[in-house]
Amino acid sequence: MRKTIVAGNWKMNMDLEEGLSLARSLDQYFRNTPSGKTEVIICTPFIHLTGVSDIIKGGSIKLGAQNCASEVSGAFTGEVSASMIKSTGAEYVIIGHSERRSYYHEDNDMLSKKTGIALDTGLNVIFCCGEVKDEREAGVHFNIVKCQLEEGLFNLDAEKMEKIIIAYEPVWAIGTGLTATPEQAQEMHKHIRSLVRDKYGNSVSDNMTILYGGSCKPSNAAEIFSNPDVDGGLIGGASLKKDDFVAIVEAG
Ligand code: PEP
Repeated sequence: MRKTIVAGNWKMNMDLEEGLSLARSLDQYFRNTPSGKTEVIICTPFIHLTGVSDIIKGGSIKLGAQNCASEVSGAFTGEVSASMIKSTGAEYVIIGHSERRSYYHEDNDMLSKKTGIALDTGLNVIFCCGEVKDEREAGVHFNIVKCQLEEGLFNLDAEKMEKIIIAYEPVWAIGTGLTATPEQAQEMHKHIRSLVRDKYGNSVSDNMTILYGGSCKPSNAAEIFSNPDVDGGLIGGASLKKDDFVAIVEAG
């Protein structure tokens, strides 16, 4: 069964107490008002993981990190490994966010390595893909996403691929207030699902959750999520405000 998911990406926002306070209010809300068929994930900075994990224990919210190291363990000062993330109680990790690709020069090879390590550790991966503005304007966006998936993900076997959630995030829509139209989102999601189908067959592609990300907000979420190949969203800015995030989850 294909899952509907709304995942918040807190990015590098909120100190520890602010983050725990947001987690407490989300946890309280979703314990009293279950999110129905929509799974709710919050992807916090590393330092929040353990505290948030304690808060959400026994509730319905799931926890994720926003990145992990490309090595398993050892002398890699400042890095955080997939197994450290797992040990906090987190079940998900975002890999390949466009901010990691552009500011930290993470290429498809590195993302493929991180994805393999995260899956071997038992984490589920939210794998991001998406084109920049120039690529869309040049009409090469379908090819760009194809290449990101082929090089970053398609070395996985079918069993591992079932643990992947793909997030299509057009880079020109992230944090800009510009959103893909529902038609633009649907045509890219359909393209992604057909690439997965060509490589892995109907069962993997039909069951794959494909999220949309890029300036999703309460006013546009329902229309975007209503497309047949859009299975929820990865939410940046709006995930920092409890009421906005709840409204987006409820649009799922
Ligand atoms: C994101 O960073 O994953 C994202 C979708 O950001 P925003 O919702 O702020 O555009």
